[in-house]
Amino acid sequence: MNAIQPCFCGSNYDFSSCCQPYINKEVQVQTAEQLMRSRFSAYAFGDAQYIYDTYAKSSQAAQSVKDIDDWSKSCVWVALNIHPITNRINKATEQFVEFSAFYITDNTLCELREKSRFILEGYIKDNTEKNKVSTNNDINKASTLSTPLKQWRYVDGDIITHSELANIKRNELCPCNEYPTTWQIKKGKKFKHCCGK
Ligand SMILES: [Zn+2]
Ligand SMILES: [Zn+2]
Repeated sequence: MNAIQPCFCGSNYDFSSCCQPYINKEVQVQTAEQLMRSRFSAYAFGDAQYIYDTYAKSSQAAQSVKDIDDWSKSCVWVALNIHPITNRINKATEQFVEFSAFYITDNTLCELREKSRFILEGYIKDNTEKNKVSTNNDINKASTLSTPLKQWRYVDGDIITHSELANIKRNELCPCNEYPTTWQIKKGKKFKHCCGK
């Protein structure tokens, strides 16, 4: 992997300073949009465990890491677009993010547009963990000491459109060329030599 790689989520930041620290669980997301972006990047990067872990507890039962993994790997995740939301008021503990995810599967470029619901979910941090942290030699690591007790989680979403945008011919220019955050991109290559392989 290159040292500098634009993040999958289209933020214009480098992956290592954008979504990767969230996916690696080094840093906690502060907003629902950050969680949405990092979940998309996890699909593109292939980290099903992160996607599973960031479902709300109430939604996890309907998921499995393996199903997420199979679905994420059956697609080339080419781009994410965040749409501004005008007709919903985001609350302190519940937020909505509307997005379009573009991906290629079965020689078809698809768009999934969804309005997703996120909640701030609490979890119990037991005292033994706190004690362990306070006696740890490495107490300079402030991040472990100041772990917030609530985290943003994905609950569910309303699908607005889920459509096939184009069938891709093997000899056509690969559509990922139009999406510069796609890691599979091979500049100027035909589909059959790029994402169609
Ligand atoms: Zn990102
Ligand atoms: Zn491609």
